[in-house]
Amino acid sequence: MRCLVTGGAGYIGSHVAQALIDSGHKVTVLDNLSTGHIEAIPKGASFERLDLIERDRLNNFLTRGKWDVALHFAALSLVGESVTHPYYYLKQNLITSINLIEACVANNIKKIIFSSTAALFDNTHPSPSPIKSDSPINPASPYGESKFFVEKTLKWAEKIHNLRYASLRYFNAAGADPLGRLGEDHQPETHLLPIAIDAALGRRPPLRLFGTDYPTPDGSCIRDYIHVSDLADAHLRAISQINNRSVTYNLGNGRGFSNLEIIKSVERVSGRKVPWIPAERRLGDPPILIADSTEIKKETGWTPRFSDIDEIVRTAFTWREKHPDGYRSP
Ligand code: UDP
Repeated sequence: MRCLVTGGAGYIGSHVAQALIDSGHKVTVLDNLSTGHIEAIPKGASFERLDLIERDRLNNFLTRGKWDVALHFAALSLVGESVTHPYYYLKQNLITSINLIEACVANNIKKIIFSSTAALFDNTHPSPSPIKSDSPINPASPYGESKFFVEKTLKWAEKIHNLRYASLRYFNAAGADPLGRLGEDHQPETHLLPIAIDAALGRRPPLRLFGTDYPTPDGSCIRDYIHVSDLADAHLRAISQINNRSVTYNLGNGRGFSNLEIIKSVERVSGRKVPWIPAERRLGDPPILIADSTEIKKETGWTPRFSDIDEIVRTAFTWREKHPDGYRSP
């Protein structure tokens, strides 16, 4: 297949692009490099530096080639930042996605795989976990809302233009390529696992634990961590699943770990203490997010290979230990 990968220089996009190449597919990466890294674009992929907000450039580019599927990762993706800059997030994520959907329809790209999110669900009351794909949608942040806007736009593109899509709602992507080719590198880093690892390695001040009074057994938030290579595998399966109909899947391991349990896992894997201090809750954070991924398992045969949290953390730890400055490391 000829695959167009927006955001292919980012964390999840680069791992999926790599998996596509490893499976013999052709990959074109589109990325504006605002948060992605040129070094993360897998060898063998072609690359065009392009911002999806530039509708005419995007259209122009797509008229110059042929693709069977677009995988859409490019987005602003920080829950906390979206609460501080709500209109920017809502506008940017929706307009760039509409530009892509419109351009795909105009250029005969008939399938889109969309990076959606667990942030669609506001699991304020712990009882409904794990979350099914038809659970009530009620985003707790503008980031989650912006992804919901895009899901709705995809529905219209299917109804009116026969576009087939897969909306994959990731829970917490974690870990790194087991072969060490790629890892997680955000600037600035805001995610729990890489921050906990860097704190254990003494590369940053103590981790600030956002919220210790949540309605959970240890008072910290609970998340469902899924290895980024398992996510990549789900994307490949989703592409073959949407020949005749569109799908929406929740994607996680189906098991929750509290933030304090993640800290413990980092301590086991690294053999070091993770220094941390209690801090205020972060706005937009639901207390518990655990996926019910029964549907994708049943329909595509997908099953996560990394189900053990320490194994997931180990791949992340190995990459970060070797790359103290992320992709800028020698
Ligand atoms: N978190 C934290 N300290 C940090 C970063 C994150 O306590 O420095 C918490 C965050 O509030 C949430 C969990 O870790 O409860 C996972 O957050 P992350 O940003 O890694 O992923 P998200 O769930 O927002 O996608």
